[in-house]
Amino acid sequence: MEKQAPPPYNYEAQHMPMPMPMAVPAMNPYNQHASTSVDPIVRVAPMVTPLDKESTRMICPHCRVTIETTVEKNPSTMAWISSLILCLTVGYCGCCLIPFCMDDCHDVKHTCPSCGAFLGERRA
Ligand SMILES: [Zn+2]
Repeated sequence: MEKQAPPPYNYEAQHMPMPMPMAVPAMNPYNQHASTSVDPIVRVAPMVTPLDKESTRMICPHCRVTIETTVEKNPSTMAWISSLILCLTVGYCGCCLIPFCMDDCHDVKHTCPSCGAFLGERRA
């Protein structure tokens, strides 16, 4: 048997056709709907339930007036429970009053300053 020299290492690379670069359109599939979803309605203030800790600008669903909600903060159940736990563990030294000073331990109630309607509540 006649021994043949092995083909050169890059044999396939020389004889295989070069892959043609594919024509990829320069369009991002995620941006296809960007120009079609233009909202023709200009919203001045959102018609959502205010759940922020601070006063929220919105249109009152009851009197249809653009308002800044009036907020009323009350200690939440969590504040009372935290205070009780602090009182029992640390003792009465004033530390149990800390939860009542924290904003995150308050329920925030939003009302309309124009008509007084209840608009929403953010619970701690
Ligand atoms: Zn109102």
